[in-house]
This record gives sequence, C-alpha cells and structure tokens, in this order.
Amino acid sequence: MTLDLERHAKSDESARRLIERFCWPAGRPRCPRCAHAKAYVLAQGRLRCAGCRYTYHALTGRFAGLAGLSPRQWLRLLTLFAAKETAHAMAAALAVAYNTAYKAATVTRLAILADSLDGLAVLGGPLGRELGFAGGVLRPKPADAPLAAVPVFGILEREGTVFVDYLPDMTPGDLLHFNLRFSLPLSRLGAIVYSDRYQRYQTLVTCGSDLLARRIVEVAGRVPAVEPRREGFWPYARERLVRFHGVTARKFPLYLKELEFRYNHREDDILPILLEKVCAVVPDLD
Ligand SMILES: [Zn+2]
Repeated sequence: MTLDLERHAKSDESARRLIERFCWPAGRPRCPRCAHAKAYVLAQGRLRCAGCRYTYHALTGRFAGLAGLSPRQWLRLLTLFAAKETAHAMAAALAVAYNTAYKAATVTRLAILADSLDGLAVLGGPLGRELGFAGGVLRPKPADAPLAAVPVFGILEREGTVFVDYLPDMTPGDLLHFNLRFSLPLSRLGAIVYSDRYQRYQTLVTCGSDLLARRIVEVAGRVPAVEPRREGFWPYARERLVRFHGVTARKFPLYLKELEFRYNHREDDILPILLEKVCAVVPDLD
C-alpha cells in the first residue's frame, strides 16, 4: 500500500480520518473500556460509549495516545522518523518542545519493540520498566541514567531476515567469563561490545557495561567472525550505531530493535507499517 501521508496531513480532519482507519479497520469505533460498538459522537473526534459512558477517541489506549501529539502531528512525525531524522529535527519541523518529539520517537520505538517476536517478554519484564514502559503509561528515565542490569542480545540472521533476541539469562559478566576463561573473542564499538559466534548466534552484543569496558581482553590474532563482514545485518547495524552519536545503555535496546525492524523491511515502504504499529493497542502486561 502506498500511503501519501503528506496529503492526509494537510488538515486535522483528514489526518484524524486516516488514523481512525488504522485504529478501527472494521470502520466502526469500539470502546477501549468495555468493547461496546455503539457510541455518541462528540466534538473533535471524541466519542461517548453508549454502554459505559466512557469518553474516548481513536488513540485512547493505543501507543500513539501515549505521546500527546494530534493525529496530524503523528503523520508528520512518522514521515520524519521513517527518514531517520533526529528528535531535534522533528521538534523543529513540528514546532513542539524537544522532549515532546523525543517522547513520540520513543513511543514509536516501543511500538516497534512490542510487535517484534520477543517484544512482549521484553516489555513485561524488568527491562521494559527500564525502557520507560509502565503498564498503560510511559515513564521515561533520563537517557544517560544507568540501567540496573545491562542486557545482552543475540543476533541470528537466516536468509536475509535478522532476529535480535533479548537473552534475559545472560549478563555482561558471562561475556567476560567466556572471554577470560574460554578465549571468546570480543571487540568494542564505543560503549558497545560484541562477540564471536556463540551457540546459534552470529554474535552477542551489549552496550554500556563498565565491567566489560574495564576488563575485556583481546584474543591474540582473533576478532569476532562478524567483524570483517561487508554484508548482512551486523555491518548494516554497525554503520548506523556509529551515527547514533553516543548511544547509551538505556537507548541501545530500542535502537537495536529499531534496526532489526528497518533491516527486515529494507525493501518496503515502512510508513504504513509504522502507522499500524503506533495505532496498535498498548498491551496490558500487569
Ligand atoms: Zn464502554
């Protein structure tokens, strides 16, 4: 589907209608509280449920409802997100505060994560809370605040599709142990540390571990097998991670999952897919 977001973003009314199409594909609203289909139309896209009297709009209870942007602002923000613009550029283009644009970009990344294979396991666990996901609301922490536990991810690529798996039982300490005791080659890319092949993974990767930064040992004459590669996910991710200046431990999991999504859709127009994801209902994980 080609989607001319610019055309839909010309007025608040047409932007709202497009967003409603994504939220209610059956064409009828549905109460997010009691699932009743009958509603009274109020002003500005708001509805009152005929069953429970709850007042809602298309974005109530959905990822896009967590960021405080109007439908029209969402269409413009997603166009910029798809074009890999920074939160600063988004804030300037939408004439909103930097924090508002940053929050909306974070919501977009959380929606991408939620829809990935292990997304619900990540969001429902301690890492999800570290990323700012607290049930139905968003409680972002400062980007440079340290994580209670630095996560490790395994990267597995098969026939051009990549899987970035969160490994909840693996710690940076384990990586160091494999490095010191079993000569597992490790390399650094700024605060990121990645390994040689490990079990079914082409590489294990983590970001922001002080322990690894201090104690990692080069294995003479050996580098991780992904390091010299020119094709595939790792060179793709490496180039982009270098461009995300100063990626922090807290930003890394969302960036890595975003890269997984972008890589697996590298031949597609990602705008309609992004719109679908931010219009998805926020999962109830409590
Ligand atoms: Zn209701």
